[in-house]
Amino acid sequence: EPIIRFRDAAKVFPGGRRRPEVRAVDGVTLDIEAGEIFGVIGYSGAGKSTLVRLINALEKTTSGAVVVGGRDLTGLGESQLREVRAGIGMIFQQFNLLSSRTVAGNVAYPLEVARWAKAEREARVRELLEFVGIADKADVYPSQLSGGQKQRVGIARALATNPRILLADEATSALDPETTRDVLRLLQRVNRELGITVVIITHEMDVVRYACDRVAVMEHGRVVEVGDAYSVFSGPQAAVTQRFVGTSLRDRPSDETLARLRERHPARLVVVGIDEVTGSTRAISQVLRGEGVEPAVIYGGITEVADKPYGSLTFELTGPDDAVDAAVERLRAVTDVDDLGTAAH
Ligand code: ADP
Repeated sequence: EPIIRFRDAAKVFPGGRRRPEVRAVDGVTLDIEAGEIFGVIGYSGAGKSTLVRLINALEKTTSGAVVVGGRDLTGLGESQLREVRAGIGMIFQQFNLLSSRTVAGNVAYPLEVARWAKAEREARVRELLEFVGIADKADVYPSQLSGGQKQRVGIARALATNPRILLADEATSALDPETTRDVLRLLQRVNRELGITVVIITHEMDVVRYACDRVAVMEHGRVVEVGDAYSVFSGPQAAVTQRFVGTSLRDRPSDETLARLRERHPARLVVVGIDEVTGSTRAISQVLRGEGVEPAVIYGGITEVADKPYGSLTFELTGPDDAVDAAVERLRAVTDVDDLGTAAH
C-alpha cells in the first residue's frame, strides 16, 4: 500500500466575475511509496503547492481522492485530519522560524503543542539538534543563523513529533548550490536513517536529480511524466521535461568553486554534464584531442542517482583558440556543456 495515493484528484478554484476558474490540480493519479524520496517538479504555477496542500489536508479535493497512510482524506472530520497532519512534517522555502525563540525553542515548539513533559522535551530537542548537526547553536536566535542552519532548524522542528512523511516545499530555493547539497544530503539521511518518506517540491531540476528516487513532472495541474529520476531525465518524453533537461547542467560546480578553478587555471574551462561518468572522461578527451586540444580534468562532481554515477566534469582546455572553439562546439552536440570562456593569460 503506497503511503500517499492520488486517485483522479482535482482541486478547482472557482472563478469570480473577472477571474476564470483555475484547475490547480487536474485529475492526478499518483502513488508515492513508503520509504522513498519522491520529487515533484514543475514550473511556477504548475500546481505543486496545491498538490502538497492536498496531502496535508490544508485543501480539500474538488473531486477524486487523496489517501494518506491508508486513510481517504475525503470523508474525514477535522479531528481525524489533525491526526493525519500529526504524521506529516513540513519544511518551507522561507524556513518559517519563530524569531522570538531560540533554536532549541523553535524545535521544542511542536512538542509543547503536543504537551510533552519538560524533561522528555529537552532530551528530544537535544537529540534532534545533534541529528541535524547544530547542537552548538541551541541557544542562538534565528537571525544569527545562515540560511543552511535555519533550514536545519526547520528540519529538526519538522521531525520533532516523529512524522512518517516529510514534505519539503521549495525548501532549498533560498539557498546557494553548495548549501542546497548539504540540506539535500541531510534529507537523504532523514529518509535512509529514520525511514521517513520525503516528498520534495521544487522547480529546480538539479535538486530532483541529486536527491530523488522517483519524480513526477507537473504542468497545468497534471502529472505529465513519472518514473525513476534517472530514466525520466535521461530519456524525457514530455516537452516540459525536455525543457528542464535542456536548461540544466548536471552538477555544475558552485560559483565559488569555479572562481577558485579560474584563478588556478588560466586556460579555457568547460563544464560538461554527463549521464554516466564511467568511461566518459576518456570519450570526451578523445573528442577534444581529435580537434587538436589538450584536455585535463580539474574538477569532478559525481553523484549516485538510481545507483548510477551521474555528474559533471570540468575540463581545462589548452590549444589554439579556434581549435578550442571547435572542440567546445563538438562537445555541445553530444552533451550539456557550459563554456566558461578564457581567462587572461
Ligand atoms: P506551483 O506551486 O506549482 O507554483 P500552485 O499550486 O501554487 O503552483 O498554483 C497552481 C495554480 O492555482 C496557479 O494558477 C495559482 O494561481 C492557482 N491557485 C493556487 N492557490 C489558489 C487559490 N487559493 N485561489 C485561486 N487560485 C489559486
